[in-house]
Amino acid sequence: MTDDTTGFATRAVHAARNQGAASSRATPIYLTAGFEFDDFDHAADHFGTGAGFGYSRTGNPTVSAVERQLAALESAADAVLVASGQAAVVTALLTVAGAGDHIVASTHIYEGTRGLLLDNLARLGIETTFIDEIADPAAWQAAIRPTTRALFAESIANARNDILDIAAVSAVADEFAIPLIVDNTLATPFLLRPIEHGAAMVVHSASKFLAGHGSVLGGVILDDGRFDADKAGHNAPHLVLPGRGGFPSVFARHGGNARIAYARESVAPRFGASPSPLNAFLIGQGAETLGLRVERQSRNALEVARWLAAQDAVESVDHVGLETHPDHALAQRYLHGGYGSIFTFTLRGGLDAARDFVESVEVFTHMTHIGDVRSLVLHPATTSHSHRTPEERDILGVQPGTLRLSVGIEDVSDLIADLARVLEPAREAVA
Ligand SMILES: *Cc1c(COP(=O)(O)O)cnc(C)c1O
Repeated sequence: MTDDTTGFATRAVHAARNQGAASSRATPIYLTAGFEFDDFDHAADHFGTGAGFGYSRTGNPTVSAVERQLAALESAADAVLVASGQAAVVTALLTVAGAGDHIVASTHIYEGTRGLLLDNLARLGIETTFIDEIADPAAWQAAIRPTTRALFAESIANARNDILDIAAVSAVADEFAIPLIVDNTLATPFLLRPIEHGAAMVVHSASKFLAGHGSVLGGVILDDGRFDADKAGHNAPHLVLPGRGGFPSVFARHGGNARIAYARESVAPRFGASPSPLNAFLIGQGAETLGLRVERQSRNALEVARWLAAQDAVESVDHVGLETHPDHALAQRYLHGGYGSIFTFTLRGGLDAARDFVESVEVFTHMTHIGDVRSLVLHPATTSHSHRTPEERDILGVQPGTLRLSVGIEDVSDLIADLARVLEPAREAVA
């Protein structure tokens, strides 16, 4: 279809067809809505079993390659990549819960997730109990009802840098045959792999460290592949009962991977937050250097935190790598290779000092994002946490003078010089 027996318009859309199979070492970008079927039976087989690729909303080779990569990094059985971290959280929760069900969640979670639970999922009939004492397994247990379908928390929480005792909380989840879902965005699988400590599911905003370059949004749901129909089937009838028209149940077809298979086959493609193959490629490229970046960022962040803790203008530093942090011992148990690079600190000068700070820094970028190769700063009380009451902000460790840093890969001497230049006048103002 490349010669002049066909018209110009036909040649325009068909001449590049059948690229052949070159062995690209980097993951090829299959930027295509759909995939050509070999023959009649191939199409029928794809629709019957879901095998192979038909349409990019239900599967794409670039996306699959990145899913395998992220599953390998998280010690997960399988992964589903979606368009954003929010899409990952909602897909995970709608995989396990429906109308009339209940979720127990940590109070110390990303504000977007909190809004999802309080507003959107509540309107769909899914109720949430929030708990503050996340270190206490009894607090989780006390909140569980017969309709509870999941426990949800972040491995390292923002803003106080609380560390989740994953083994203790997943033991509670196991006792009730429900999954513990951990948002591992801040820790990354380089520092901590929740599934190795008993979590059943993990979610990430891949927009943050996994991509690292701050160029794309993405999210991922990962699963331990250990769904047990005998033990947990009563809490997940949608996985064990036959489908419409006598179609075998998800469990009959996928066994221990029933949960993630349901997320892939039913929840993610129907709610439709499918990732662009181009974004998937960029996340995969970023994830190749995850360990190098997180190691460097964690080292930089600890040095910056120690420096800040020694400044007169600074009232407190909530970095879990500091011996003074209440969760330091838990962090030593759970985090390996660093203590993370996102933390808050509070200026004695309050709101005015915080305003001066974000407007004076030059190496740090003032922006609402984390896990970027660049160092970033944000004032939570007037941005991410502005919809909370002052009392709630207090519980969450957000004061008028609190600033959140996401430390990047720059030379740490340049980061500290930037902070020193800004905090010198602040110190004079306090004196
Ligand atoms: C950013 C973030 C999300 C949401 O991810 P998006 O990619 O922005 O949709 C969820 N959880 C945590 C902990 C985050 O930092």
